[in-house]
Amino acid sequence: MTTTTATPVVAHTRDELKAAREALPSRDVAAVMTMGALHEGHAELIRAARRRHDHVVVTIFLNPLQFGPKEDLSRYPRTFDDDMAICRDAGVDVVFAPTPDVVYPDGDPGVRVSAGPLGEVLEGASRSGHFDGVLTVVGKLLHLTAARSAYFGQKDAQQLLLIRRMVRDLDFPVDVVSVPTVREPDGLAMSSRNTYLTASDREVALCLSRALRAGADAAPFGPSAVRRAAREVVVEEPLALVDYLVLVHPQTLADVPEWYRGEALLAVAARIGTTRLIDNTPVVVGPGGGAIDVFSDVPTARAEV
Ligand code: AMP
Repeated sequence: MTTTTATPVVAHTRDELKAAREALPSRDVAAVMTMGALHEGHAELIRAARRRHDHVVVTIFLNPLQFGPKEDLSRYPRTFDDDMAICRDAGVDVVFAPTPDVVYPDGDPGVRVSAGPLGEVLEGASRSGHFDGVLTVVGKLLHLTAARSAYFGQKDAQQLLLIRRMVRDLDFPVDVVSVPTVREPDGLAMSSRNTYLTASDREVALCLSRALRAGADAAPFGPSAVRRAAREVVVEEPLALVDYLVLVHPQTLADVPEWYRGEALLAVAARIGTTRLIDNTPVVVGPGGGAIDVFSDVPTARAEV
């Protein structure tokens, strides 16, 4: 494997991306797809990809298709120069930063990938069409980058699950690799949207990771103990307006029944001030159970390095 410390090549157009890709000495390319405003979570994805592949292409694209009309597309942080510094330090070869007209030259695509029923629960319940927009752009970016592997964060658990489904259901020739959630020292999951939080919002937001930890600690005692322990933490924080707090099966996203033992996803979404945050932890429910970083039956950056 080669080590890259040079400034990444920046491609804004399809032709520039193609030329940059063809100039790479090896076809062993991994993709890390982002919306910009990069932080240590993104850097971890890039480093994980870098460790296992000759080249890494990072995409920076604020995909209008996945934002609802009342969502934060216009105020989403744009920090391209800082993003480039992170990409350079993490050893990225190519940054593809297109505008919407490059990705969607004919305007909104008439044909889209449908996420199906798994795209309508949890995040999809309050963000109609969100996952169709995500899968459509991920599919396009997989084609455009011609990546062999693509790295995604466990932080967006439902997105990760749906991308795995799409790749399997539609036979995309790509390995999907998951990377554990990177957190601030106090437990807050890193997110580009954390920059919206005021100092007091940020204090309130800590109840989400605390709730997940409390739930995971109760995992040996079964599903209702997990749910109760997590709920007890968030009800103590009236300024966190919880959208959902669920313990679900990692593949079906259906609530696990009380007799269930094994891997499950404890996931939360809440509005804090003007900001909607999500967080989750994979857990093993049952005797000896507790939090785990990622689910066991899927390729993960940690397990494979
Ligand atoms: P985004 O720019 O928010 O669309 O995220 C791009 C990728 O980074 C997605 O695969 C996310 O799941 C991943 N990601 C975002 N935040 C984190 C985090 N705190 N830890 C690990 N991965 C993350």
